[in-house]
Amino acid sequence: MTTQQAINNYLKYTGHKSLDIQVALIDCDGVLYDSMKNHTRAWVKLMQKNGIKCTRDEFYMLEGMTGTEIIKRKFREGAGKQVTDDEALAYYRVKGRYFEEMGGAPVMPHTADALAVLRQAGVRCVVVTGSQQHTILERIDNDYPGVFDAVRVTGHDVRHGKPNPEPYLKGMEKAGVKSHQCIVIENAPLGVQAGHASGCFTIGVTTGPIPEKEMYRAGADIVYGSMEQLAAQLPELLVAFQATQS
Ligand code: MG
Repeated sequence: MTTQQAINNYLKYTGHKSLDIQVALIDCDGVLYDSMKNHTRAWVKLMQKNGIKCTRDEFYMLEGMTGTEIIKRKFREGAGKQVTDDEALAYYRVKGRYFEEMGGAPVMPHTADALAVLRQAGVRCVVVTGSQQHTILERIDNDYPGVFDAVRVTGHDVRHGKPNPEPYLKGMEKAGVKSHQCIVIENAPLGVQAGHASGCFTIGVTTGPIPEKEMYRAGADIVYGSMEQLAAQLPELLVAFQATQS
């Protein structure tokens, strides 16, 4: 898929006449942080301790749902157990502890380069995540100083996690922009689905084991193979967005 094809497809699908990108709505896990390895390991540990069979890949595919939603679903499907909101939250805290013990989340290489391209082009950067992992949320401004807008959407702000478009719709609303003024940057199929359903131009980046075709199937407008590739291609993409206005 070339940049121009991706933009043409997007405009045709949405009916928008042009793209006037002012805001980037940016996912956290797997985009800002290389955290999915430890998240998936921590999920498997929690499930195994509770006698629920699973694989790590399942959790890569569920990424973007809120933690409590994942717990309710896996306990229902894997153990025939209905989990209450309070119980789900308690399990989620245990999973969060495993995650920290496993080493938590290193910063994703080259993401800062991509964000620098956006900032230089005057694009505001807004974090949109279903995560409630406070150890990560508190680090964002230290790890990416001066990059992010005070506006932020986290797992505390949304009722429905991804693939529901709610997190991205909320991001747009809080930032005061419409769908033709935003891009979404995502690493997970459910997150891509949410971005696509919100009407924004949705960029998928494969930073984990999920193949590109899953991102396109989920509705990505364009997919890059790494953050390094995204950083290298973004200037061209931003120019092509601007060209839709002339
Ligand atoms: Mg993610």
